[in-house]
Amino acid sequence: MDIREELKSAGVYPTGPCSAWPEVRNIELHKKMRVAPAPSVAHATKVKAGAGKMAGGLLKTAGQAMRHGKVSEVIRNERYETCKACPAFIEDSKRCSECGCFMEAKTWVGGNPKALCPLKKWER
Ligand code: SF4
Repeated sequence: MDIREELKSAGVYPTGPCSAWPEVRNIELHKKMRVAPAPSVAHATKVKAGAGKMAGGLLKTAGQAMRHGKVSEVIRNERYETCKACPAFIEDSKRCSECGCFMEAKTWVGGNPKALCPLKKWER
């Protein structure tokens, strides 16, 4: 079978989230196609922010939440996907190593995205 056909899958092969597709199979197919697979991100393993910075960030986030409420699910998911692809994201705890915040929650907070993401990676 042509590899491109196999990748399209046509309902025969897994069509669910990427996690359902074995990584080795992905690498194998990309090698055959001579296309480099997307490099995996080396994530942080611990919080860099000190207690003072975390407290300041928490206050700023709380202020934004009180003034602006929460964002739509679409924006929240967009932000969370950005975090998951960011080297500052700690996979185990789902925290940001830069600010120490829990990203499953913080990504919902309304307000200025550039003020909420310490590396200013959120678009909205
Ligand atoms: S908040 Fe910003 S810096 Fe922190 S993990 Fe998310 S994208 Fe990266």
